[in-house]
Amino acid sequence: MLKNKFDNFDDKNFIDKKVRLAGIINDSIVDGPGLRLAVFFQGCNRNCLGCHNPHAMSHNGGNIFSTREILNIALSNKLLDGVTFTGGEPFLQSDSLYNLVEIFKKNNYHVAVYTGHTFDEILKEKKYVCVLNFTDILVDGAFIKNKKNLNLKYCGSSNQRVIDIKKTLKDINNSEKKICLNLDWL
Ligand code: SF4
Repeated sequence: MLKNKFDNFDDKNFIDKKVRLAGIINDSIVDGPGLRLAVFFQGCNRNCLGCHNPHAMSHNGGNIFSTREILNIALSNKLLDGVTFTGGEPFLQSDSLYNLVEIFKKNNYHVAVYTGHTFDEILKEKKYVCVLNFTDILVDGAFIKNKKNLNLKYCGSSNQRVIDIKKTLKDINNSEKKICLNLDWL
């Protein structure tokens, strides 16, 4: 039986970390399925033409939050279905990102992560791959202006993909190209 994520939120092993954010929206309906907390990481190296969030590019902008503060904001909205980590580039603060995806996934939130990296690039970095342990969907690839398409669900340009991580990792692990992951939550 699923734990009740509000009355029985389990964080006894949670380690509070610092994270630089461009902002938080606690009632997003465009960053993944259902009603979501959208957490915008600050800092990105890509400088994509037509970036939807240019104020999130600077590495010195935004504000420092503790990951505990983000948990408390989520818990204050009992209507939330999930949490989306976007930016900016969330993987540039991969320790804090891991900390957050783990606590939210273990408490039965739907977890989405946006990144300018492709899925294949994520698979090559050990400290990035571990984030996938606790991710439901990954939206991969940088925004490309001449591939912009306003009709895409959760994406800004047609090169980006909404990847069902649970299904994709199972497919990979059933193939020759196995990845060593702890998939206990699946
Ligand atoms: S990856 Fe995203 S945040 Fe970074 S420059 Fe491109 S569109 Fe902007």
